[in-house]
Order: sequence, then C-alpha cells, then structure tokens
Amino acid sequence: MPELPEVETIKEDLREQVVGARIERAEVLDSGLVEQPLTEEFEARLAGRSITGARRRAKHLIAELDSGESLVMQLKIGGQLLLVPPVEEPNTALMLVLYLDGDRRLFLRDETWFSRVRLLDEGELQTRLSSLGPEPLEEEFSAAYLRKALSSRRAQIKPLLLDQKVVSGIGNIYADEILYDARLYPRRKANTLSDGEWEALYAAIRSNLEAGVAHRGTTVRLYRDVLNRPGEHQNYLRIFEKHGKPCPGCEGKVVREKVGGRPTHYCPSCQRENSREGEQELTLG
Ligand SMILES: [Zn+2]
Repeated sequence: MPELPEVETIKEDLREQVVGARIERAEVLDSGLVEQPLTEEFEARLAGRSITGARRRAKHLIAELDSGESLVMQLKIGGQLLLVPPVEEPNTALMLVLYLDGDRRLFLRDETWFSRVRLLDEGELQTRLSSLGPEPLEEEFSAAYLRKALSSRRAQIKPLLLDQKVVSGIGNIYADEILYDARLYPRRKANTLSDGEWEALYAAIRSNLEAGVAHRGTTVRLYRDVLNRPGEHQNYLRIFEKHGKPCPGCEGKVVREKVGGRPTHYCPSCQRENSREGEQELTLG
C-alpha cells in the first residue's frame, strides 16, 4: 500500500505531468470508489475543471481544482494512478478515468478495489485532515514530540507508529524498517522507552522515509508511479519480508510474527525484548 514516500512520488509526478491540465470528463467505473458526493454529482462537478495544484497530506493525495474544491484520493493496497493505459486488459481493475485535454487520460486502478476518493470543499477538506498527526519530514516533528506524545502510553510501539493520529504517513513496510534501525522490539511498550531510544526512533523515521522518497518509493508488489514505473527502495529493505533470511546486522535470522494484527518482521537478536534490563545489568555489572 502506498505510504508517505510512494504518495509523495506520485504527487511530484502529478505536479510535473498533470497540473495545469483540464478535466474534460470524469468516468467512475466502480461505484464503491466515491465516498463523497454521490457518483453522478462527483462526475458532474469534475467535468470542465482545471487541476491547479497537487499536494500530499499523510497518505492522502490531493488534486486542487480551479473550482476551489479538492479531489482527495486514498490509494489503498493496490492503488495506482497512471497516465499511461494499463498494459494488460484495459478494463481490469479500473475504478476511475479522468479524460484530460490534449487527449490524455489519468487512470485510477486498484486490483484490490480498496482505493477511495472524495471531492471536498475547503471546509470539508480541513475537517477530513484535522485528526492527522504531524508530517514526519516537517520541522514540527521531533524526538521531543514523539516522547511527549507517546511516553505515557502503554501500547506497543509498532501499532503506535502506524496510528495516523500520532504521526502521519507510516505504513507496515516502513514501520518494520524503522524499528529495525532503532533496534526496538516491535512489541515494546511505549512507556518503557529511554530518551536515547526516542532519539533513535526519531532518527530512524526520518532516515527511512527520506530514503524512500529519494528512491521514488518501494515496490514490493503493486506500487507504480504515474508513468507505471516501479520504485527502487525495495532494493534497500533490510528486514521487511526477509523472514527466514539472515539479519544484515548479526548472525541471527529474521522472523515474522503478527503484532497488532499486522505481519511484522524483526530480528530477535538486534531488537531485544528486554533491552533496558539488559543495559541495566551491564551498567550494574
Ligand atoms: Zn540482527
């Protein structure tokens, strides 16, 4: 599923390729796609509008229109936004086609059918985005913020990283890589982390997401940019879906277990369950 680096890449592509284009017609091919307004109204309100900007908030992709409205897209597990026609069977998994001027088409495709879109005015957009936590690549996000937001929580650290109210844009792939870099056991209770561990977690969030953006996203299976090209960050993953393989940092093997209902990959040697106790023993010894 597209996470922050993938949606950021698509947003940059839209800025380069699509902003300035006029939508001549919108065709919804799957009625489950449009959450708001009704499908016919959605198509009518998009027709004739120009796309004036593109931005990202968390995992939301936002196309700004000259009507003042925003087309908000949530690309879920198999969600793709493509400027080139899907190669195999043109109609497979197509959910939306925007017919642009200059004889171009923008396809929203999702073979899992989970992607959703909304057409919102400014007030509705603000409401929709208001509960989201800070953007992890912005100034407002810091180790101090993380510690303040989470250090009294007894919940496990991995589900907290995935909670969009805590920090926005992190999904299952980057969460596992981040916890590996920070040497944190995914089930660690947040209220047991030391100051140094909050710093390490913060640094790992920044470095992993920045690398993901620099590599134009991670294509494990379905993610593509708008020109249907895979990302490259999958070549840099150390832990995600590496279960059964050797850990790149030690002699141990990567394991896969469910944490908070999500498949989770970690190294039991590098990400120890009782790391604080271990440190204390060393200090006392
Ligand atoms: Zn290891």
